[in-house]
Amino acid sequence: MTYRVTLIPGDGIGPEITAATLQVLDATGIEFEWDQQTPATVEVERRGESAPEPVIESIRSTGVALKGPLATPVGGGHRSINVALRRAFDLYANVRPVKTIIPGTCYEDIDLVMVRENTEGLYVGVEHFVAVGDDPRAVAESSAIVTRKGCERIIRFAFEYALQHGRKLVTVVHKANILKMASGLFLEVGRDVARQYQGQVAFSDRIVDNAAMQLVLHPQQFDVIVTTNMFGDILSDEMAGLVGGLGLAPGANIGSGAAIFEAVHGTAPDIAGHGIANPAALMLSAAMLLDHVGEKDASERVRGSVIRAIRDDEVRTKDLGGTATTSEFAQHVAQLVRC
Ligand code: NAD
Repeated sequence: MTYRVTLIPGDGIGPEITAATLQVLDATGIEFEWDQQTPATVEVERRGESAPEPVIESIRSTGVALKGPLATPVGGGHRSINVALRRAFDLYANVRPVKTIIPGTCYEDIDLVMVRENTEGLYVGVEHFVAVGDDPRAVAESSAIVTRKGCERIIRFAFEYALQHGRKLVTVVHKANILKMASGLFLEVGRDVARQYQGQVAFSDRIVDNAAMQLVLHPQQFDVIVTTNMFGDILSDEMAGLVGGLGLAPGANIGSGAAIFEAVHGTAPDIAGHGIANPAALMLSAAMLLDHVGEKDASERVRGSVIRAIRDDEVRTKDLGGTATTSEFAQHVAQLVRC
């Protein structure tokens, strides 16, 4: 069987880590027909907001994409293509697992999953400036949109994920003490959904600032965390830090009709073009893609080979304290996958 998959190499280190990941996928022997797309950033800027049509069309026909990071200008400029793609396909669940690979670091035995709501909250882009006197940008106003339906489906997703993956606890992270409506609704729905899973999956809740501190002090107390868009974005980078950094944090954006697999990290402009980026996070994202299409054996081989290369063979890129280049790491992992 040949899988048709949209391929978006992305910006910055994207093309380097994508080439490395394709080498590893090739070693699995699974056949892919890649529909390679380069989002036309210039076109997006010209049209203002939405994601590039050819990319949308491609994902509409394949239903699944492997994606490198895409740059978004800070402050002004075009809106995030990443956010636009997630909204275009209603990819409401952003699943970001982190697991200890290298023993003997600050934290041992980390095995956590972030389930981040991916379409609502402050990321809906409802914001504007209010002019005061002669300053047209005197006040900035952003709205967080949180719906009962959106809360329900992401929290249910987290509990179902826990059941399917043998996880014991779902923690709802919120700020319901201050944002009594936007975050209060999320917690209220969390408690309702949790009751339906009583006896199967345990439930707890944490205020986000406490959760951030507890993740550093006693991360093992967590299992699956479910939270709103921005808290999930921030906490998942923190969680990546617990296992050695962004080079080891994969992710999946899941909706009912499509899925996009990408690392948690961005374009890493500071190291782009140097050939030293860690492609492990995208390789682990590709393993999630293999799981998604039902290729469990190949998925385990890719995941196991990445872990073995880093942990046992100590073939590590610079971010992990090693000297391997992106392509040396890829060759090593591909060799292990073939064995
Ligand atoms: P970043 O994740 O690109 O980089 C943060 C730090 O981590 C940098 O020091 C970088 O060198 C390092 N790093 C990241 N990935 C690495 C890897 N694979 N190997 C080794 N080191 C790695 O975050 P940033 O600098 O805040 O963002 C840069 C750009 O990426 C921005 O335009 C941002 O909008 C975009 N971004 C895109 C996505 C996405 O496409 N999903 C996600 C996050 C950020």
